[in-house]
Amino acid sequence: MSHSHPRSEQLYERAARVIPGGVNSPVRAFRAVGGTPLFFVDGRGAYVTDADGRTYLDLVCSWGPLILGHAHPAVVEAVVRACGHGTTFGAPCPAEVDLAERVVASYPGIEQVRLVSSGTEAVMSAIRLARAFTGRDLIVKFSGCYHGHADHLLVAAGSGLATFGRPSSAGVPEAFTACTRVLPLDDEAAVGDLFAREGERIAAVIIEPLPANHGLLPQRQEYLERLRAVTRRHGALLVFDEVISGFRLSPGGAAERLGIVPDLATFGKVIGGGMPVGAFGGPRRIMARLAPDGDTYQAGTLSGNPVAMASGIATLEVLAAENGWERLEALGAQAGRLLQPVLREAPFPIHLVRAGSLFWLSMHEGGAPRTAATLSQQAVDRFAALFHAMLAQGIYLPPSAYEACFLSLAHTAADLERLAQALRNALASLR
Ligand SMILES: *Cc1c(COP(=O)(O)O)cnc(C)c1O
Repeated sequence: MSHSHPRSEQLYERAARVIPGGVNSPVRAFRAVGGTPLFFVDGRGAYVTDADGRTYLDLVCSWGPLILGHAHPAVVEAVVRACGHGTTFGAPCPAEVDLAERVVASYPGIEQVRLVSSGTEAVMSAIRLARAFTGRDLIVKFSGCYHGHADHLLVAAGSGLATFGRPSSAGVPEAFTACTRVLPLDDEAAVGDLFAREGERIAAVIIEPLPANHGLLPQRQEYLERLRAVTRRHGALLVFDEVISGFRLSPGGAAERLGIVPDLATFGKVIGGGMPVGAFGGPRRIMARLAPDGDTYQAGTLSGNPVAMASGIATLEVLAAENGWERLEALGAQAGRLLQPVLREAPFPIHLVRAGSLFWLSMHEGGAPRTAATLSQQAVDRFAALFHAMLAQGIYLPPSAYEACFLSLAHTAADLERLAQALRNALASLR
């Protein structure tokens, strides 16, 4: 590493004593790129400042929630105002109705939504509901898709695990995943075979309609339509995990872009605008199975709390008022135009894969894969070198070759020019 970060190193040393691995979420630990994780003390717009006073252009944006950038004045104001009136009641509050109405109005097929506090919780609850509604046990997921860290979904699950080269997690009994079937993405025949064998037992097929947790793996429209058709034919539910794509690609998430309506959808990240919020929703006939009306239990002490709701509402309001989704698409397109020529000159294979304001620097030899292919050790090492070369120039990329970059409304054309120039310099230095 070219620069030292004494304060971050001190903090990390303290952290490692009292927090396992020094972090509260594994991919933050820089294990895939080496070095000491940076501790951040300030975020403004598209920039973050570390404990040593260095400022970076942020392409992580907290892994997606910060679609307006850091400390957007409207969000800060809404959160501060809400705090002054009490942070949680353990009873209904007006703001949760407001956020629920926005989700219902925005997302195709959703009549009711339940608010929770994380994406993991949203998915876990949606799966329980799908099982209750269908009276079936099996869940189908796809290799490379991440759906949070609930036991039965922690199989072949995206970057955090790909990064550590583990197929699954310790502490998950085989019996817990015995009802989970894992298929490769982009393979209609595999789906057809599984449904032919076990279709009557399948409660739900869950997929990230834009898989974004093993790099970015945009799927073919026909493939996703096939999933819609086969689940419908067999009485299984199709669950779109839109924790990343929901309210990022469009108000109606990937579903709106694809014109495919799932039975249930899950949300997180953007919907909380940087506060802990998740949600899952669907038609009333399914959602009615939830307690207290129905027999499927689901609950949360801090669910729908007014502070988290205020952050989510303010975020969605700014997106709507400022033509946010169109601007994010334009920004993503501009990033593509600026970065593509730089990547073409690179001394090794590196390709841009983009969907809206999400993009991935794919180090695969053959360009953009549609399945969760493993990167070669050489590619992983190259990414680590690139990561540190970018860091030295004040650019904070996600610290793993399997992670996508996030843009926000705070990123400007000038920021993207800066990013392209830094990438040109970094690649030249690695030649
Ligand atoms: C981040 C993510 C989750 C988990 O959300 P948490 O808030 O981290 O629990 C679930 N699904 C997808 C697609 C995600 O990207």
